[in-house]
Amino acid sequence: MRLRIGYGWDSHEFKAGIPLKIGGVTLPHAKGLGGHSDGDVLLHALTDALLGAVAAPDIGSLFPPSDPQWKDADSAVFLREALKRMKAAGYRIANIDSTLILAAPKIGPHSASIRENVAKLLGIPADCVGLKAKTPEGMGTDNAAIAHAVVLLEKA
Ligand code: MG
Repeated sequence: MRLRIGYGWDSHEFKAGIPLKIGGVTLPHAKGLGGHSDGDVLLHALTDALLGAVAAPDIGSLFPPSDPQWKDADSAVFLREALKRMKAAGYRIANIDSTLILAAPKIGPHSASIRENVAKLLGIPADCVGLKAKTPEGMGTDNAAIAHAVVLLEKA
């Protein structure tokens, strides 16, 4: 197959007193995202999108929350493993797109640095990384951050 598509989704709950990391960038905010790892909701969705595109096991199967070695882990480790599996399957990234859904903080001022960091982690140009941010109107999820991601792969 010349092209493959992958999709990933994740959510994490806000908790006081921990750093907020989104796309590998630490954002100034009173709360961070809880979870077994660093709670980076965007990198988790991207990891699952890449894994899904090559029909690999999902992030929870490869890095089970029950395994103490992933406690407070840098989510870039998960993304690198997904990239490795994608390359082993003979593909490269054409582009990715993503949407964050969260009430706060505002992502706009940090959008460029998140896109640049995600591009660096994936080894692709920043103009191949889409990022939108929405507030959760009517969803009742103000204490959570949600990320959706899609990735298009092409034969390397
Ligand atoms: Mg997660």
